[in-house]
Amino acid sequence: MASRADHPKGSKLFRAVQLCGPVNRALATLSAGNRTLLRASDEQELVHDMCRVIVETGGYRIAAVAYADHDAAKHLRWIANVGGMEDDFGAAHFTWDDTEFGQTATGTAIRSGQPVIGRHILTDPAYAGPAYASLRQNALRNGYASATAFPLRVNGEVLGALAMSAAEPDAFDAAEVKLLGELADDLAYGIANLRTGVQHRAAQATIARLAYFDTLTGLPNRTLLLEKLAAAMAASSAPGTLALLHLEVSRFSEINKVLGYSAGDELLRKLAARLQGAAQEALLARVGEAEFALLLPAAGAVAAVQVARHLVDLLDEPVEVAGLMIDTRVGVGIALFPDHASDADTLVRRANAAVHQSGPAHSGYVMYTGGHEQGNTRRLALMGDLHRAIEHGQLQLYCQPKVDLATQRVCGAEALVRWQHPLKGMISPGEFIPLAEQAGTITPLTNWVLEAAFRQVHCWSRAGHTRPLAINLSALDLYDPGLVDRVRGLFATTGIARGLIQFELTESALMVDPTDALATLTRLKQLGVELFVDDFGTGHSSLSYLQKLPVDAVKIDQSFVMPMESNEDSQVIVRSTIELGHNLGLKVVAEGVESEAIWHRLAALGCDVAQGYFIGRPLPTALFDRWEAGWTPAARRPEAPAPVTSSCP
Ligand code: C2E
Ligand code: CA
Ligand code: CA
Repeated sequence: MASRADHPKGSKLFRAVQLCGPVNRALATLSAGNRTLLRASDEQELVHDMCRVIVETGGYRIAAVAYADHDAAKHLRWIANVGGMEDDFGAAHFTWDDTEFGQTATGTAIRSGQPVIGRHILTDPAYAGPAYASLRQNALRNGYASATAFPLRVNGEVLGALAMSAAEPDAFDAAEVKLLGELADDLAYGIANLRTGVQHRAAQATIARLAYFDTLTGLPNRTLLLEKLAAAMAASSAPGTLALLHLEVSRFSEINKVLGYSAGDELLRKLAARLQGAAQEALLARVGEAEFALLLPAAGAVAAVQVARHLVDLLDEPVEVAGLMIDTRVGVGIALFPDHASDADTLVRRANAAVHQSGPAHSGYVMYTGGHEQGNTRRLALMGDLHRAIEHGQLQLYCQPKVDLATQRVCGAEALVRWQHPLKGMISPGEFIPLAEQAGTITPLTNWVLEAAFRQVHCWSRAGHTRPLAINLSALDLYDPGLVDRVRGLFATTGIARGLIQFELTESALMVDPTDALATLTRLKQLGVELFVDDFGTGHSSLSYLQKLPVDAVKIDQSFVMPMESNEDSQVIVRSTIELGHNLGLKVVAEGVESEAIWHRLAALGCDVAQGYFIGRPLPTALFDRWEAGWTPAARRPEAPAPVTSSCP
């Protein structure tokens, strides 16, 4: 219970101190105190160690420190006590107020801001009065006869006091008090110093938080991501792999504009929370306005794709913002270390580049494929050239035959645009259509294709060929208010039969804004054209949505058709799509038919129409007649067309 410092008079330390006299014991205490000060890293520890030094090195009976509370009762809070009875220092009645219990050396030193010395406490009549009863009692119980207390001044204010007591009734002469006063000042200096350090560290932590974290979501920012990424790369031992996912929420600026910035902020916070829930151990950062990045240590391509898929699904769920259910879409770009980049900066840029490969309003993931970055310069150059290409006749219309599987007759063709670049050669539409969409040149491009296609069908019709031609429309064409009128105008000027023009729209284009898509499709359908859902199976359209659309046919995406022979899953998908399409009263076209085996398989499954390299590659429209003249499934020779010249230019 009681912790009294025990220094029997015979102990070595006490003897040394006694031999040297009171000034020297104060000096010894001062220098030991300075060493304590230098070592201190924590305020409580410093105060306690200083008291210990005073008792152990100085041989004083008790050393204690109290802080002054600024409450109504002006309580004294004992911070440390070495040598005194714990019970006495725990008592609640200690105060620095000018009351009966405030007449201790400690209370008086704090009140007055001056050192206070009490000698001969037990015998001096000055301490005989009732005001000093508790002091005398304390001195008796703790075995001291004299006491002193020094105010502890921190930043100009008395924070508390350092109190010492000695067994000898006449301790603390002027020289000793001067030295001990210095000790108290050193202690106060040490406390102030540590407190500044704490403030400094807190300030540094705030600065670090601002420099490394995003204030809106509380997530790490790009700077921290780059640092962590660089560290993870350095720590990843060969052949260690890590993946970086770049997530971009599309249509965010629209949401911001329509609902206001605070709703936009709320949306971002909710998305961040949702992502954080899924991210678990992985580092999630906010790296742009509506862009996030996820660092997956020890993840290869397969794991990264799994996570990306999961995130796409997760963010596909609507978010409630300002009382509305907001539909968000997210594109995810994936880049792997060390496959795609050897430094953090490049890896981040490549994951970002990958997400931009996916085109506008895309929901899904894209793995970085080498060359995108050099491709970026090429992309910019091509974007600039595209306008000129349309005006200067660098585009050509190719077409690819479609054959009815039951009758084996050619039942139409698909129009596919080509760009013969004067310097870069033939450029595939897979490359320049997304560019046209991003550069805002898709409308003039579609207009060019529409005119070329109508002209071609008109030409074929005049020559007696009833050969429907399918035109591909981009997602953005669906939101072009002039499209339907232009098509109507082309029917009027060319006079061709309505059934000879078809339109193909990818499933994902139809899903960008299903309500708008339905409106445009309905108006197109009213013109009497046929409508196809292209790349069927790659989007996320539901059966009930498909049922509402005024479409005539679905085209099973080639990614299911091509591997049919070797892949059981693909076969199941193709078979069930054919059944599904027929149940909905739709024709089913298979694209990407590359072999005779697949042709037979599709025929057996009841598929209506086939298109693909096995039947014929896309060819300039002028060569189509020649190709068709040589067509039979058994004797198909797409690479060696029969020598029949076309009647059209
Ligand atoms: P799509 O509409 O899915 O067209 C089919 C693509 O698959 C064509 O590529 C075609 O050449 C290719 N293909 C056909 N059969 C086979 C086959 O058996 N095996 C393989 N491996 N591929 C086959 P292309 O001509 O490069 O066109 C690519 C995409 O560009 C088209 O995909 C379409 O989305 C777009 N596109 C083409 N022309 C136009 C156009 O005039 N307007 C718009 N908006 N998009 C177009
Ligand atoms: Ca197509
Ligand atoms: Ca297709």
